[in-house]
Amino acid sequence: MNKSIIFLLIVLLSFSGCMNKDNTKLSRPKLVVGIVIDQMRWDYLYRYYDLYGNDGFKRMMDSGFNCENTMLNYLPEFTGPGHSCIYTGSVPSIHGIAANDWKDNLSGRMWYCVEDTTVHGIGSDSVTGPSMSPRNLLTTTVTDELRLATNLRSRVYGVAIKDRGSILPAGHLANAAYWYDDKTGYFVSSSYYANPDPQWLKDFNKRKLADSLVKQNWKLLYSPDMYIQSLTDANAYEGNLKGEKAPVFPHIVDTLPEADKYNILKTLPAGNTLTFDMARACINGEQLGQQKNCDFLCVSLSSTDYAGHLFAPNSIEVEDMYLRLDKEIAAFLDYLDNTVGRGNYTVFLTADHGAAHNAKFLTDLDVPAGSLSGDMQADLNSYLKKEFNKDSIIDVIMNYQIYLNNTLINSANLDKEKVKTAIREWMGKRPEVEYLVDLEDVNKTPLPQPIHDMVINGYYRLRSGSMQIIPAPEWYDNNKPTGTTHGTWNPYDSHIPLLWYGWHIPKGETHRTVYMTDIAPTVSALLNIQMPNGCVGKVITEIVK
Ligand code: ZN
Ligand code: ZN
Repeated sequence: MNKSIIFLLIVLLSFSGCMNKDNTKLSRPKLVVGIVIDQMRWDYLYRYYDLYGNDGFKRMMDSGFNCENTMLNYLPEFTGPGHSCIYTGSVPSIHGIAANDWKDNLSGRMWYCVEDTTVHGIGSDSVTGPSMSPRNLLTTTVTDELRLATNLRSRVYGVAIKDRGSILPAGHLANAAYWYDDKTGYFVSSSYYANPDPQWLKDFNKRKLADSLVKQNWKLLYSPDMYIQSLTDANAYEGNLKGEKAPVFPHIVDTLPEADKYNILKTLPAGNTLTFDMARACINGEQLGQQKNCDFLCVSLSSTDYAGHLFAPNSIEVEDMYLRLDKEIAAFLDYLDNTVGRGNYTVFLTADHGAAHNAKFLTDLDVPAGSLSGDMQADLNSYLKKEFNKDSIIDVIMNYQIYLNNTLINSANLDKEKVKTAIREWMGKRPEVEYLVDLEDVNKTPLPQPIHDMVINGYYRLRSGSMQIIPAPEWYDNNKPTGTTHGTWNPYDSHIPLLWYGWHIPKGETHRTVYMTDIAPTVSALLNIQMPNGCVGKVITEIVK
């Protein structure tokens, strides 16, 4: 074959390749569902593995992709920052959601992460005042980018018991975010959104599912001897549900006063049932994943966090909640198969943070642990008064951060560096405080690299404190001897599950360390859309092949 014929063949082959490409339409799933399980420790995938069925967590683990070592990469580790980092691929230092609540350093006013006084509540008589929106979030979310990429044709909805678990994932351009009103048992929304009170939502609320769920009380799913992963019922490390005298099964809640009933539902597995019922109502009402474009539904399960805080990880309550949640997930995947179609949707499942073991449980086993001393703020302020002859030099200690009273320090002409040195001396006598970091000059404190990076990633100048307390492992800010909390850098708080399942997700797993901030760019890569505008995460390339 002479050279000119070979050349002609190459030209023809490349031309036909181009033609094929031109004729191929961009492929996307019909629906993406993000499921965030509030306070789910990574080890819950395996702690209760033997009692999980094959169609819930195990369906995603066996047929999807499992990122076994997914870590948070910022401090402090709470619900608002967690949901924001998952959906923005960014860190608090950039997206601004530095905690659930913070002190605004310019105005001195306390803020809640999704608070917005310019909008009002919609959906029940108890929420008509100032309401919530994503305005405090300073970057776009992957859900915003999907809306922008499709000229707003793709639709985005958020559903959760917690307002922040719904609003922050759904982003600035969401059609609506809905959350639970614990005064009425209804799902409500805000005038921020274009679609806050559709007819299907009114119909859903009219069914008063919260009432019928509370009536069922909380009984164990299996016989008590099956719960071998937990301590005996009514152990010393569990708190009481409001109105109960002991943390013991069955939890009878249907006799509580009306007002308490709706509040207590948040801490029951029924809260997860209601959330999934609401997610199905939203998919059905808006025909999500059943029209031409790729839609996105953000679901967050909040009851796992309420129960975790109250009962701690070694309780039969937490075990039962996860066994029931496994069944809820199985039923929801089944529902997606039947409405959107198997293979037409992509699901990722993760958590916003984990939680510590109860400290007293550990010290009873001779493992070092503890609660940061009762009133650190008052004790520190009286020490500083002796040094500087001024009251309330510390404004507030929250989120493991010290907010200085800068107005007082300036007006009294105090030397801020001397104040910080005095605080460092006081903290230095406390072995439970492993490091005290000057957030305005992090490099002053020698820190192991991972903690150093997490501190920097979590510091947002206008909303964070001036100094960060890094407690020793298993020391936490929980004034009660029962229950647990989260917020620190340690693996029990920062190691989360990350499962991918469905459209274009290969079967497999990786033990390579990936970060919470890698989720949004990976979804962006799957959908061929721009990553969010503050994204610092990287695509998990094993998933996008
Ligand atoms: Zn949370
Ligand atoms: Zn929590």
